[in-house]
Amino acid sequence: MVRSELESDIQYLPGVGPKRGQLLRSELGVNTFGDLIRLYPFRYIDRSGVQNISDVTSDAAYIQILAKVVRVTLMGQHSQPLHVKEMTATLGGRDDSQIRFNTVKRLSAIVADATGEMEIVFFKGIKYMWSRLIPGANFVFFGKPTVFNGRVNMVHPEVDNVPQGGGGGAPGTLTGVYASTEKLKNSGVTNKVMTRLMGLALDRCLGEVTESLPDRILKEKGLVPLRFALRNIHFPSDTTALAKATYRLKFEELFFLQLSLLKQKYVRSRSEVGLRMPKVGAAFNKCYDSLPFGLTGAQKRVIREIRADMTGGHQMNRLLQGDVGSGKTMVAVLTCLIAVGNGYQACIMAPTEVLAQQHYNNISKYLSPTGVSCALLTGSTKASERKKIHAALEDGSLGIIVGTHALIEDTVIFKNLGLAVIDEQHRFGVEQRSRLWKKTSSGIPPHVLVMTATPIPRTLAMTLYGDLDVSVIDEMPPGRKPVQTVLLAERDRGRLYNFIKKQIASGRQAFIVYPLIFESEKLDYQNLEKGYEDIVAAFPFPPYKVAIVHGQQTNDVKNFNMEAFAAGRANILVSTTVIEVGVDVPNASVMVIESAERFGLSQLHQLRGRVGRGSEKSYCVLMHGQKVSKESQKRLEMMVATENGFELAEEDMKMRGPGDLEGTQQSGLPISLNIASLARDGGILSDARNYATHILDADPTLEKPENKILAEELRKDKYYRQDFSKIS
Ligand code: ADP
Ligand code: MG
Repeated sequence: MVRSELESDIQYLPGVGPKRGQLLRSELGVNTFGDLIRLYPFRYIDRSGVQNISDVTSDAAYIQILAKVVRVTLMGQHSQPLHVKEMTATLGGRDDSQIRFNTVKRLSAIVADATGEMEIVFFKGIKYMWSRLIPGANFVFFGKPTVFNGRVNMVHPEVDNVPQGGGGGAPGTLTGVYASTEKLKNSGVTNKVMTRLMGLALDRCLGEVTESLPDRILKEKGLVPLRFALRNIHFPSDTTALAKATYRLKFEELFFLQLSLLKQKYVRSRSEVGLRMPKVGAAFNKCYDSLPFGLTGAQKRVIREIRADMTGGHQMNRLLQGDVGSGKTMVAVLTCLIAVGNGYQACIMAPTEVLAQQHYNNISKYLSPTGVSCALLTGSTKASERKKIHAALEDGSLGIIVGTHALIEDTVIFKNLGLAVIDEQHRFGVEQRSRLWKKTSSGIPPHVLVMTATPIPRTLAMTLYGDLDVSVIDEMPPGRKPVQTVLLAERDRGRLYNFIKKQIASGRQAFIVYPLIFESEKLDYQNLEKGYEDIVAAFPFPPYKVAIVHGQQTNDVKNFNMEAFAAGRANILVSTTVIEVGVDVPNASVMVIESAERFGLSQLHQLRGRVGRGSEKSYCVLMHGQKVSKESQKRLEMMVATENGFELAEEDMKMRGPGDLEGTQQSGLPISLNIASLARDGGILSDARNYATHILDADPTLEKPENKILAEELRKDKYYRQDFSKIS
């Protein structure tokens, strides 16, 4: 039997062994030689040059200096010097065998070049360094500078002998830096060791690596072969080779990701029969004709896309993205009317009672000229009313139902549900949504339209929802006034309150939102309570009325307070982010966000979207704490600079990575990306996706011989996902 090197257990790589093997498995997920060579450096250092010590700054990433050891000191507890070695004298006078290294806490070496001095510190491997760092000798030190007591130093740099000719590595040598962990470093797996292991692994198994992309793609895209890419991603022969290797591996990664997503989509759209809804219908036309405004271009385009889905004979699975206020509700209503016009029922599901109520109110307005019946079903619908609604859904006399989770209870039976509109998708689990399936008598699943006001960057949408169809409303209805956003600090609070009083005097209302972060819930509620008391003190009754809404209230109390504000009976609503999604109070003109630095950009954007919905000029005030990190400051400034939700989402992704984006945590990325970045490689992603589309258009099941290697790659475990973004 031929042993496969690629599949060899990592512990058998020379220099690894059982202990490090276990760590490589648990810390980096590396089980085999093959896994190791797919662990790419996350950055490269040019080790061909050395820097002057006088030029070193603490914010430099990695530096390399060539310096002479001046003085080495072993420090004990409380930093008292125990032993000192200098070029001229040695304090203590004992020979090294008498040093009790177990009492030494730290080794400090002062090294110097022609331009200055620098301290080098070791907490570990002290005995070895003490013997190696002989005063007067020159070394190349390589590491990351840090600041200690106001001076730049280096902790645990790599120490190399000065090569012949003086410099660091050979000119133009790029060295990869690998991800590591404290545990790995402690077991001696430094970057140097990692680099050596990588070299060994490549020598062993590169010959076994087979090309994963078909020849014709390599040719057409000008991609380098896989073996070349793997060799050069670890040990680049030069920057051009590195660029080619990187591009090839990114393309490969994104290509297979898209191919797997699109293949699922193809398979589903071919196998899933959908209800045919060829008519537009009289109700649609009546509603459309009586609108006090024309639809925006984006709304029209999206409705065309939806129409095409509903007439095509396959089930619609469409995600509708659009910023707060872009007119998604309008689109949802017209979509429901298409279903009704074709003799089906439609439901609209909202994540909270407040939102369901609001949808119901809005939708009823739009529906009044059409004569289509509509009802609201939530947890607090009275039993007698509920009974009537259940009966009307079952006998088909009710056309459209708006509601919460109450809609998916088993007791709810539809005569012929043809469409489900789901608002704010991330609040509903896949499991919950799939229960709607079972509510059709025909056995044919209803069309599904999911709406979200959380703008998702394009590349992320392509990946998270790669197997869905996505429509975007990227245009606001005319006449929307921009919301003026300002940053204020604690000392401006008096001014802020005066401003709010003026707004209230002219008939407006204000939101004041406090952050609520799970881990410190107690503290957060204290903040909120305290904030509420301060505000009531600053805005005393009479004449001011302040309502408060938060997640620990019962639904009744929450609804009562929310409605008091929505109806204008309260001037100020103090709340947590429960008002984040969808709530519409056009008369509110001020949104104050407390401790704004604690929110992500997308969330701030959502909150800001609560104002600016009426005819008055609106304001968003971002209150920030005293200590704000550079990054938070940048985020807040970005909020001031733009109102475009997609731009903010892109920026949010660049700053925090795709994993932390609002609304994406639940679904997660389908596979973890190894080398490509959704934030930076949008171009390669589109390219890879187009390519995958071409291939699947010609061969949807990848059965043709020329696509055999693609089908094989997709059979690997990493492409298997549980129904994760399938929305129905
Ligand atoms: P979303 O659900 O996307 O947040 P809505 O559907 O609630 O947005 O629309 C926000 C406001 O804009 C509503 O008052 C709605 O009546 C209005 N609106 C929707 N479409 C248009 C349009 N094409 N022209 C003018 N106003 C519109
Ligand atoms: Mg809405």
